[in-house]
This record gives sequence, C-alpha cells and structure tokens, in this order.
Amino acid sequence: MEQQDFEARYIYRTRNMRRVRKPRGKSKQCPFLDEGGCGIHPVKPVQCRLFPFWPELVEDRKAWKKTGSWCPGIGQGPLIQIGTALELANEMREKYPDAYE
Ligand code: SF4
Repeated sequence: MEQQDFEARYIYRTRNMRRVRKPRGKSKQCPFLDEGGCGIHPVKPVQCRLFPFWPELVEDRKAWKKTGSWCPGIGQGPLIQIGTALELANEMREKYPDAYE
C-alpha cells in the first residue's frame, strides 16, 4: 500500500502528531490488533515498540501506576533497570520531537 493511501485509511493528524484511527463500531482500539496480538508486529510504529517506556509514563510515577491499572504487561516479565527505561524514553523523545517540545 502506498504511504498516501495508508495515511488516508488509517491515520489522522492532531496539531503535533499523527495518530492511528480507532476502528469504527468495534471495541478494539487499533485496526491492526488481531486475536493473536499485533498484526503488524515486525513493522509496528516506534511508539508501540517503546510502550510503556514513554517519557510521560517513565517520568511520572502516578501516570505509570494508572497505566498499569489497565495494561496487562506492566509489572510482568523481567525487571527493567531505570537507566534502560530512561534510554527508551529518550528514544521516544528523539523520534517524536514535536510531541515533546
Ligand atoms: S502494537 Fe501498536 S500497531 Fe500493533 S496492535 Fe498494538 S497499538 Fe496497534
């Protein structure tokens, strides 16, 4: 699919960001979410690859805890050192500078 067609079908723009449209009339939050998980895992967007290590979550204990109340992955798996979490958050900042100015 050409980028222009992809954007027309799946993306909308806010002042600082491009966001994926939620599917209409469906309970799922993302058009690429399949029963087996992310249907585009090998090429998923950077923000998906880095979640939940986003600056607004890593740097805000309350926001992290709130996200953990609905995200089944937070608090599971191996312990991630804070230095690694901050590096990932910085990668997010570098990738989306307009969203974090
Ligand atoms: S990882 Fe990202 S692209 Fe994949 S299903 Fe979840 S929100 Fe959608």
